Amino acid sequence: MRTPLIAGNWKMNGSAALVEDFGRAFPRTVLPASLDVVVLPPFPYLDMAQRAFADSPLELGAQTLNPLHSGARTGEVSGQMLREFGVKYALVGHSERRQLYRENDEAVHDRLLAALSVDITPILCVGESLEERDAGRTMEVVLGQVGYVMARLEPVQRPRVVIAYEPVWAIGTGRTATPGQAQEVMAGIRKYQASFDRELAAGMRLLYGGSMNANNAAELLAQPDIDGGLVGGASLKVDDFLAICQSAG
Ligand code: PEP
Repeated sequence: MRTPLIAGNWKMNGSAALVEDFGRAFPRTVLPASLDVVVLPPFPYLDMAQRAFADSPLELGAQTLNPLHSGARTGEVSGQMLREFGVKYALVGHSERRQLYRENDEAVHDRLLAALSVDITPILCVGESLEERDAGRTMEVVLGQVGYVMARLEPVQRPRVVIAYEPVWAIGTGRTATPGQAQEVMAGIRKYQASFDRELAAGMRLLYGGSMNANNAAELLAQPDIDGGLVGGASLKVDDFLAICQSAG
């Protein structure tokens, strides 16, 4: 009932050549019939990616967006602009944005609303640090981040959000949450969503992110509350990313 989603976050990596490689490889590969695949390259590659992916199942995503449609925000990019390049998804609240660019829950919420206002599907990233996990605060932190946003949305907006649970200690570290650890948190997120609306909870797509790769993807994706993956490092190699997509069938 929930279509799996695999999203590749290139972060500030990649090249024009990598965009072309993805555009060539995906149309030639058989993917699970029911699967959404999104690539999120840096902004300068969106234009060529839109053309390179035209004959492939790949959708385009953005790694962030500004809350405003336009204006005096040097260096920023708006959702309206992203739409012009065929962007369908955008990350909001990635832990690197929360930490390095000091985006708090309010800033995350503003970006999420901006995405919804131009019909871009927001992927809301949440997750605890190692200190928070060790202090037994994982669910408090994760549900705090989810709840801040969800409680401020209209009921019709909530089903349009995808949530990515990304334990901060597992991002880019090679240290993956065990399938059991990931499932436990994601079941908790789904249960929390049911407090708004049971149908919402049943239909909402929840992704796991944090050192997912071709070797561990199948076991993570087999968990009942994991509907896909947000993949960083392993999304920079066509073969690895294809293998992850194939394990989502
Ligand atoms: C990410 O940046 O969202 C991520 C999950 O990175 P990695 O897969 O490299 O841990």
